[in-house]
Amino acid sequence: MKRILFIAFDQLNADAGVMKIARKETDHIVLIESQRMISGRQWHKQRLLFLISSARHFAKNLIEAGWTVTYLKSATTVEGLLEMRQKYPECELLCATPNSFRLKESLARLGVTFVENDFFLTSTATFTNWASGQKTFTMENFYRSQRKRLSILMNGTEPVGGAWNFDAENRLPPPKAHNWGEPLYFEFDDIDEQVRTELPENAWGNVDGKTWGTSRAEALGQMQNFFEYHFGEFGPYEDAMPSESWSAHHSLLSPYLNNGLLLASEVVAAAIVRFEQGDIPVSSCEGFIRQIIGWREYINGMYWYLGQDYRENNQLDARRDLLPLFRDPNATEMNCVRSVVSDVQERGWTHHIPRLMVLSNLALVTGVSPQAFLDWMREVFIDAADWVMVPNVIGMATHADGGLLMTKPYAAGGAYISKMGQFCKGCKYDPKQRTGDDACPFTTLYWDFLDRHAETFSKNHRMFQQMGGLRRLSNLAEVKQRAVQVLHGLESGQV
Ligand code: SF4
Repeated sequence: MKRILFIAFDQLNADAGVMKIARKETDHIVLIESQRMISGRQWHKQRLLFLISSARHFAKNLIEAGWTVTYLKSATTVEGLLEMRQKYPECELLCATPNSFRLKESLARLGVTFVENDFFLTSTATFTNWASGQKTFTMENFYRSQRKRLSILMNGTEPVGGAWNFDAENRLPPPKAHNWGEPLYFEFDDIDEQVRTELPENAWGNVDGKTWGTSRAEALGQMQNFFEYHFGEFGPYEDAMPSESWSAHHSLLSPYLNNGLLLASEVVAAAIVRFEQGDIPVSSCEGFIRQIIGWREYINGMYWYLGQDYRENNQLDARRDLLPLFRDPNATEMNCVRSVVSDVQERGWTHHIPRLMVLSNLALVTGVSPQAFLDWMREVFIDAADWVMVPNVIGMATHADGGLLMTKPYAAGGAYISKMGQFCKGCKYDPKQRTGDDACPFTTLYWDFLDRHAETFSKNHRMFQQMGGLRRLSNLAEVKQRAVQVLHGLESGQV
């Protein structure tokens, strides 16, 4: 053997990354199950099962295909690689450029040679070229440049359907009677069962059913299921939060895109093929394509462009500890929060609107430390990766970067949640009230948040309307009094 090819747990693809240069005659593939990765934090059980079992299935499939593979359990990734190097001192060590600053630095220090990371559609150089020419980092501008550059959903120089996005059609609330269909579930096999027995005691959440596939075949099954049963209605209801379906018409493909079992290029190609069959509205296809060639690429690009220190931003000076309800849904009577955290506890996933407008909104208006919230999001979501969560939490969710990524904070009172979800009917609070015992905590805290940061937000022209609303508020003193009670209640698990 001449080369050791290291495959990280988020690069599990036989046709991408370091596997693109692999040769059976000369190469030794190594995967490392790092103990630090497993027990270092209070990870969600589903997340650990998904990542570890996917890696073990991937290694098994490679062995069956005739590759020389070592699947090593080690204290850390670096220790595992040092062990391999000691065994095979004459071998060069290679991997695809890692997806996080930390792993990239550790492996660079070891002298590992990096090959192209093609798990994204946009190289670092291409993204840097775009970002360095921008006055503001507006995702929509990046997305349009991607559509043109990649020639996706284009009629020559014009967008298919005559518009770049169909947001206006894609913001429908959940309808009263609607068939959301059943999500696809999977069966545990021997590898899954084995991993389940090895999960650390401190892991969080449930792992009773298998929501997430752990092999390439299961990931492909999920993709097929989406295109067959959900793609057409994905767009109109992509922001809806129905109580009777945890998955609505979402694709549930992000975990597989983020651990390599699926490639962005093949998902986009399959979406276009399905769209061209003629019965999928352009609003659904465009909305889905935007998530992949727009948002996903933009977030990854910004992660690298903004650098390592970006994660430490805390420009709103938010210092509160993580609220107990984020680990215990029974620690709150807010129906929306209890329901969304229960979903996360159950399967490590909710779609982007509950993440942004319920969980992140709560962290934002209560002033939870962005870094504490970032840690929690990283630990409990099935599809969390450093590159996803750092820009999403620091920039989008908590506005901790002072508006570098998003020009205004995503703060909202109960009215938005009431409109887009079905939680408020069963809640003891009233989304329209901002004071009194029945007042919705979101509504109270929204105004309190604007007032706490009035000096900062008054300088932001995009907050003009909200700040005008604050000035017209007749009972701000009462709202602030109620906010103190609510914050105290949330900290002690009594709101
Ligand atoms: Fe959530 Fe407020 Fe609605 Fe209750 S009333 S479900 S707390 S938004």
